[in-house]
This record gives sequence, structure tokens and C-alpha cells, in this order.
Amino acid sequence: MLTLDEALARLLSAIRPLAETERVSTFEARGRVLAEGVRSSLDVPPQDNSSMDGYALRCADVREAGTLLAVAQRIPAGHVGQPLQPGTAARIFTGAQVPPGADAIVMQEQCEALGDEVRVGIVPQPGQWIRRRGEDVVSGAEVLAKGTRLTPQALGMAASVGAAALTVSRRPRVALFSTGDELVMPGETAPERMRPGAIYNSNRFTLRGLIEALGCECNDLGIVPDRLDATREALRRAAQGNDLIVTSGGVSVGEEDHLRPAVQAEGRVDYWQMAIKPGKPLAFGEVRRADGSHAWFMGLPGNPVSSFITFLLVVRPALMALQGAPAGAPRALKLRADFDWPRPDKRREFLRVRRNEAGGLELFPNQSSGVLTSAVWGDGVVDNPSGQAIAKGDLVDFLSFAELLA
Ligand code: AMP
Ligand code: MG
Repeated sequence: MLTLDEALARLLSAIRPLAETERVSTFEARGRVLAEGVRSSLDVPPQDNSSMDGYALRCADVREAGTLLAVAQRIPAGHVGQPLQPGTAARIFTGAQVPPGADAIVMQEQCEALGDEVRVGIVPQPGQWIRRRGEDVVSGAEVLAKGTRLTPQALGMAASVGAAALTVSRRPRVALFSTGDELVMPGETAPERMRPGAIYNSNRFTLRGLIEALGCECNDLGIVPDRLDATREALRRAAQGNDLIVTSGGVSVGEEDHLRPAVQAEGRVDYWQMAIKPGKPLAFGEVRRADGSHAWFMGLPGNPVSSFITFLLVVRPALMALQGAPAGAPRALKLRADFDWPRPDKRREFLRVRRNEAGGLELFPNQSSGVLTSAVWGDGVVDNPSGQAIAKGDLVDFLSFAELLA
């Protein structure tokens, strides 16, 4: 059996980033991965400006609370004032450039406006309520590195330095199909008309959602029957025009599991028994295309929780790697277990848990790999080393689903 880390190392040494990049509007770039860093050619903020509505003045003019100053000018945001004359103040508003000569802002709540004068109610400190030029970004600095996956706040950062378009990796194209003769589609068969032995194809929805959530294009090929020829045919079709083929089910070593021989016949397969629970069997390989190139292949187990978890742990890093994003281990948080786990598995386990308001973790009572409720109820997993029992109060490694999909 391979450890998860060995499996990831193999995968990441094989997969190279896609060569193609594209220029997209910053408006359209959320979730994409930067293929070039973004550098600023200006300071942000561009000048010292006020962070309050109030009065700009010189501290040297206000030695005691209650000093009266003439209000010589008014500077709203977006306007530029005159140099401040000694003994005067400027009415100023949030975001307005601080006039030359002023060295502090006093907020309006601490002042009293008296016609053309202002009574300053405090003794100001130099620099107070002034946002300094360049305190966010200094001209020349790289504000977003190559490989960054673009969050909404990263798009705002790009815009704040004037970048209206960004160079990103091409979206990976991912083919998806489900295997299993027991599978029927919601919408095609009503619950009361299900034939004996049938179940709904839930993985198709989970996996497609995951692929799309990670900024990839999903080419969904539906359900493929449990037959070798049909599986080979589906693989050939999926390899055309896709970078990666993701499948669910049919990847064990039973007589009804055709994926491994099918990939072997159509390309090359590395079959992994990973020492994790849920999610032991996984196949990784490549499927030849007509032109001699190949698509990557990742065959996930059929159990709904197993395919969900193995996607997050193994497929996600592959999709990140295809886009040139650093695919480091997800960041685990040390949190307190508010549960006991006295009989750990020999394999490294990923237990579905949920954070409670006391900052601890609750365990979903049924950890079976078929119980999808655990993954909906939970907001993450405990990454539990093999053979390690957990007692209430222990600190454990928590991986949140939100972070794994960010
Ligand atoms: P397999 O990996 O094909 O042996 O399937 C393992 C278990 O997962 C079986 O109970 C299957 O019925 C179930 N399963 C396989 N594919 C799906 C799917 N697409 N949606 C829901 N359950 C599935
Ligand atoms: Mg099956």
C-alpha cells in the first residue's frame, strides 16, 4: 500500500503545468490561477490621505486642548488642497489628500465648528489618522505572485494597482464519467419507479461540482455501463480534447471492475492501494489520444464519501498542478476533539467532523464511506494518523472543506 504522501509525490512529479495561458478581464478572473505575477507601478495609496472626516492641521499649532484655528480651506475626497498656512486648519474628508504642511488629522467628533474657525478639542499626535503613501503597496512591488488562485480580494488587489486584465493559465478541461450498472439519474427515474438494486448517481453531481468549483471546465460524459468495451470506448472519447479524465467506481479488483484493464489497454495505469480511509483504491495513469499525446486519468472509488474525499486529497492537487498553482499540503488547524475515537484504523483516517461554537470538533456518528450525510453535516475532516486513538480534549489536525475548495 502507498501512503497518501507517496501517492501525491508520484502524481506531482508526473504532472506538468499546461503551457497555454490566456489574458482575461480582471472581472472574469475569479478562481483562475495567475500565470504571471502582478506588479505595481504606483504607490497605494498614491499620497498621504485622511482616514477620517475632520480637520487637517499642524501639531505645532495646537499645544493645548481648546485651541482655535482659522479654517482656511475645504478638501473633499478626490480634490487637492493648498499648502497649509501656519495657524490654520483645513476641513478634510475621508480619502482626501492631506495638504502639504499638515501633520495630523483631528476627527470632527473632537472639534467644534464655529463659523470660519474650529475649536480643536484635543492635543493631536503627529501622524494621527493619516494613511501614508505606499502603506499598502510600494511602487515596483509584486502584489500577486504567479501561481496565485484569484480570490475576490485578490481581484480587488489587482484592480487597486490598475490591472484591468490578467494573464492566467488555461482552464483545465476535465472529462467525467461514472461507472455502475446500478446507477440511475435523478429526473429520469422517479424514486417510486426505481428498479430493485438501483441507486441514484450522486457522484456525478458531487464530482462535477468539485471540478467546476476549482475553476475547471467539466465535460460530463454521464454513466458508462460495467463492460470492458464500453469503458474503453468512453476512455477514448474522454481523452480527446481533455487534459484529465476523472471517473468514479469500477476501480477495485472485482470482476465487475473494468477501469483498470480498460486504461491498461488504452494507455498506461498505475494502480494504487492508498493507505487512507475512506478511499483505498485509486487508479492513476494516462489514456492515449489519436495524435500520440495523452490525457491524464484518475479513477476514484465509487463510494460517495470516498470519491469526495479522494477528490479533495488527490485530484485537487493534480488540478492545481495543471494550472501551475503550488500544490502544497492543505493547511491543517490544531483543534480540540470533543469526541473519543478509541478504535482507530491501521490506515490514516479522514473523519468527518464539524466545528462547534466552543471551538472544538464534533464527530459524525456514522463514518461509513457510503454515508454522504456525514460530508454534508460536516464542515471538514480530522486527518488522523494511522493507529492513533483520540480522547476527548486531544488536539487533532482539522482540514476544512472550505479551505480545500478555496
Ligand atoms: P464500486 O467502486 O464501483 O465498487 O462502487 C462502490 C460503491 O459505491 C457501490 O455501493 C456503488 O453502488 C456505489 N457507487 C458507485 N458509483 C456511484 C455513484 N456514481 N453514485 C453513488 N454511488 C455510487
Ligand atoms: Mg461498480
